[in-house]
Formats: sequence, structure tokens, C-alpha cells
Amino acid sequence: MRAEIDEGNFAMARMIRIFDTTLRDGEQSPGASMNLEEKLIVAKQLARLNVDIIEAGFAYSSPGDFEAIRRIAQEVEGPIICSLARARPEDVDRAWEALRGAPKIRIHTFISTSDIHLKHQFRLTRDQARERAVDMVQRARGYVEDVEFSPMDATRSDPKYLYEVLEAVITAGATTVNIPDTVGYAAPQEFGMLIRGIRENVPNIKQAVISVHCHNDLGVAVGNSLAAIVEGAGQVECTINGIGERAGNASLEEIVRGLRTRKDFYGADTQIQTEEILKSSRLVSNITGMVVQPNKAIVGANAFSHASGIHQDGLLKEKTTYEIMRPESIGLGKSTLVMGKLSGRHAFRQRLEELGYKMTDEELNKAFERFKRLADQKKEVYEEDLEVIISEELQTIPETYRLKSLHVESGTDTVPTAQIELEIDGKSSRQVGKGDGPVDAAYRTIAVMTETKSTLLTYVVKAITGGTDAQGEVMVKVEEGAKTVTGHGSDTDIIVASAKAYLNALNKLAYWKSRKDEKISYKEA
Ligand SMILES: [Zn+2]
Repeated sequence: MRAEIDEGNFAMARMIRIFDTTLRDGEQSPGASMNLEEKLIVAKQLARLNVDIIEAGFAYSSPGDFEAIRRIAQEVEGPIICSLARARPEDVDRAWEALRGAPKIRIHTFISTSDIHLKHQFRLTRDQARERAVDMVQRARGYVEDVEFSPMDATRSDPKYLYEVLEAVITAGATTVNIPDTVGYAAPQEFGMLIRGIRENVPNIKQAVISVHCHNDLGVAVGNSLAAIVEGAGQVECTINGIGERAGNASLEEIVRGLRTRKDFYGADTQIQTEEILKSSRLVSNITGMVVQPNKAIVGANAFSHASGIHQDGLLKEKTTYEIMRPESIGLGKSTLVMGKLSGRHAFRQRLEELGYKMTDEELNKAFERFKRLADQKKEVYEEDLEVIISEELQTIPETYRLKSLHVESGTDTVPTAQIELEIDGKSSRQVGKGDGPVDAAYRTIAVMTETKSTLLTYVVKAITGGTDAQGEVMVKVEEGAKTVTGHGSDTDIIVASAKAYLNALNKLAYWKSRKDEKISYKEA
């Protein structure tokens, strides 16, 4: 065992494919649904992170998912783009329709192999399920070369039957076989042994890549994935920040950093651009509204801060005394000053391109205007500020409600009062209202003006960079009926940021209502 000194060593490492399912399984997290524009932004960041495969959605489930997969497959360069499909002809066909014409594509089809699922949910015999798996893999192979098959609930399936199904689908043309611990039931050693059993008992296993997909119900999704890699898995399915159904999926950043930091042990690595990890984590957290816990490994706010005096003393003398990886290796550094008030449009575009963002002229103009306004309020603009501007400006949700002006009075001796002017569907409207505090007054007034029936679930405010002139960023979650949306707003004035975040959420609700596409219910792999 050694502390990480040089990441370039261990040239013989086996390369593990990273299959990111933030946009499919991650998006199934309660309250984490993303719209088309948000999915595109995340997919582009996943490409910068250099993941091997992006599971962009489940084409058959809704027109929204279909369209997101189609756009991502057409517009995002680099990774293979994949759609999930149940083992049904209409699902496989729909996945193909969403992907067709794009350069690098994969269809991922699945059916359960556990008796519990087959008997109670699918009402199929083992023979029927295997036959259907084979048929659908063949159907998918009729469309694409790259086909993945998952035996859902593999960890609760009879291993003998599981081996038979895997052999049959590989013969039918599956190029990746993915072993899901669908309900997060497996223990690491046991899961490792299952992968070993598959390698030893499926005669044609060398013709396919073994993949794993672990859920975190017992807190060992990453441990299970790593145990599987030790036993020969060549692909891992995971999500940014570990978001996903219930307790979530294996977290991408933990697997990637785990392999890189302990390459001496695992003898395996990935092609992930680890310096993009923190940026990816912040982006997904911002868009989904799923806050990262401070003590989360790798990307938590405290992950690299040493509080103990003894540790600090050691670190000052020699970094490797208590630091097993460099903070810069995940993209954590000092906030870098990027631009000031006098920076021009050309420099702005250049800086964005250096950060990896390519924008159309129209997007650039909008972002630049926003940057100028910010630079007027705040002398120094940091990289993090630019990221927020970009992610907000790229979200082209139609503005049913727009904030024209806001004036709030509050203090120790006044009843907090908000005076708000909104543009609603192009028409100007003014209102005055009171509340328990300045934010409450503003929100109550906006609620009256927009006649919203929604409920505010979460309100979080944070500073984007240090200093009292920093931009405040507000994230809200708003629920109406069964739909939850996340709204964001940022401004150097917290109350203005709060109003913007609320209106952003209400705009998303209005947008959603205008193009309602209820997802059909389905079971995930
Ligand atoms: Zn899953």
C-alpha cells in the first residue's frame, strides 16, 4: 500500500468502462426529474468528464424521454449514447427510433430472471423469460451492433438459470451483459463471487463485457461494484453523486477515484477526466436539487478539509502524511478569478471555451449580458459564477412569469412587506403583500399574483464563492399534484435570488403543464 504520488504509474491497468446512468436511473430519484434542456446540459458535461457510455433515458416511457435521447444522441460527441428498453418489441423499436442516425449508439434491454419477479410481476415461466430475452436481443442486434442485456434482480435469481440466460443472450448477440443488484440486496464478497461464478460457468462469457449495476439500499453499492471489478467486471453503471432510485446507485466519483487512488491494488483504471468531477457534481446537484451531504466521499464540502490539529501539522510538513489524493485531481482548487468588469465579449467567449462550453451566438449574447450585469454588482467574477450563469442561461424554459422589479422592506421594527412587479404572459402586474420575513413576504405576494396551487417543499440558500459581495444562489423545490420541480436563482441580493428561484420553478411547472407527458409506469433494471 502506498499513498498516491504519481497518477501516471501502473501503466498496465485494465481499463474499466464507465456507463453513466444519471439521466435514466438518476433521474428516477424522487423529485429529481429533469427537462430536455437540463438533460442536454448534463450530457454535455458527462462528455467532458469522458464517460464511455451515457444512458440518456428510456425512449418508450414518454415523448419527453424519447426527445431527450434523440437530441443527446445527435448533439453530444464522444460517449456512446444508450436507451433503455424493456424486453418488448415496441420498446426496442422505440429505442432504435430515438437513436437512429447518431454515430455511437447502444440499445439496453432487460427482463427479470428472479422467480420472485417472474412469478408475481411478469407471470412468465423461466423458459418464456429466456426466450423473450433472446428474441429482444436479436431484434436489437437487427438495428445496432452494440447491445446490452440485463437480467433484472440478478442477485436474487437462481445462479444456474442466470448462467443459462446469459449464455443464450450472448449467443443471440449481446455484447455487454449487465448484472444488476436491483434491490440493493447483495454483500460485497457475495457479489464478487457471483461475478466469478458467471465467468466460470457461462461458456461464451469472453464474447461479452461483464457489467454491474448496484443499488445502495444497504450502503454498499460502491463496495459491490469494486468487488465485481476485482472478479473481472469490465463495465460499471453509476451516477453522479450516486443519485438514483431509493437510496441511489453506485457513485461515479467514488468508483473512479477509488480505482485511480488504489490502482496499485485494483490494477484497473478508467478514462475519466477526474478534474471534471467536482464541476459535474455541482451541476447535477444544482439541476436536480439533490444536495450533496458535506461528509460525502470525494465531492462533499468537507471531503478535503482537515480539522484536526495533528493532521494539519502533518499536512504542512508533507502533504502525503494525511492526504491520499490531491484536491486538484477532482477539480477542487482555489476559486480562480476569471473575469472583471472590463472584460469584453471576445475574452468572455474564449474563457467559456477554455472551460469547455461551446455556445451559439444567441446563447453567448444572453450569457454575456448576464455576465455584465453581474460584473457591475460584483467586482470579481469567478469560474463558479460563470458555471451558474451558463447553466441558467442554457435552460431555455419559456418565461410565463418574469420579475420586473422587487422592493422589500424588513428589519427589527417593521412588518416585512414586498412590492413586486411581474410580467405575466407579457402583461405587467403589480402587487403588495406582507409576510413573516422578507423572503416570505416576496413568496406570498408572488403566489397571489401567479395564482399558483403549488406548495413550496424546500428552500436552500448558499453563497457561490466567498465574501459578502458573493452571488447568493437559491434552490427551491415546488410541488403541484404529483409533479415536483426545482427552481434556481442567483443574484448578489438574496431576496432577488429567492424571487428568481421561485419564479423559475413556477415557469417550469407552467412549461410542464403545456406539454404534459405523463410517464408510463415501469420497473427499472
Ligand atoms: Zn437501477
